[in-house]
Amino acid sequence: MIRLEKVTKRFGTNTVLDDLDFSVDAGKHVTLIGPSGSGKTTILRLLMTLLKPEEGTITVDGEQLFPAPEKQVREIRKKIGMVFQHFNLFPNMTVLRNITEAPVTVLGLSKDEAEDRARELLEMVGLTEHVDKHPAQLSGGQQQRVAIARALAMRPQVLLLDEVTSALDPELVAGVLDVLRDIARSTDITMLCVTHEMNFARDISDRVLMFDQGRIIESAPPEKLFSEPEHDRTREFLSAVL
Ligand code: ADP
Repeated sequence: MIRLEKVTKRFGTNTVLDDLDFSVDAGKHVTLIGPSGSGKTTILRLLMTLLKPEEGTITVDGEQLFPAPEKQVREIRKKIGMVFQHFNLFPNMTVLRNITEAPVTVLGLSKDEAEDRARELLEMVGLTEHVDKHPAQLSGGQQQRVAIARALAMRPQVLLLDEVTSALDPELVAGVLDVLRDIARSTDITMLCVTHEMNFARDISDRVLMFDQGRIIESAPPEKLFSEPEHDRTREFLSAVL
């Protein structure tokens, strides 16, 4: 579903991703871990086409996302949903409208269809009674659950999660992670996730990739990577965060 081949990304003279290859099969959940600045978020931003690599190719669902003509990029982008660290909800829209806006304008759903789907998703994330509120009236955890519902409303084949609990007060983290565990269990969406929540990574991941300085230094199923890491760098990182 996702394939990066020989991808290099630089900012000026800083090589952030260095000749990177990896792929994620359809329906699998892959988590990226590693020290801050190792290039994890850059990968998600490349897949969202917020950034372009200097070299390499990126393919999603068998179609080239980079390099590719703009029209093709727009079509592939519809298959990819993302949830950000800082929610990025539309502050002037109700919860319901936040979720229905893109399905109506981008996918061409009728308002009724989009609202029916939004209400189902709000039930799934436990926010049914908040449909008519504005984001500022919700806790951070509730806002993040709206952002998750908004991403799912586009029926993405791929869901990118960028440190989605990092900006939350500690007591709000569990509710968001429970929703994501539920999605991982009950849907066939391919998930690529950057997180510092190692227990969550262990629960949902089919594979965990350890990054260091723009390279993958270790890739293994979570039960292996967390209990018997092969690299000293992985061991050091895990002992600092666990
Ligand atoms: P991580 O997600 O692993 O913390 P990032 O992918 O955010 O790492 O960042 C990797 C490196 O790229 C860091 O050195 C960061 O400073 C640099 N970087 C990220 N975005 C930009 C940007 N827009 N301009 C310049 N440097 C950037």
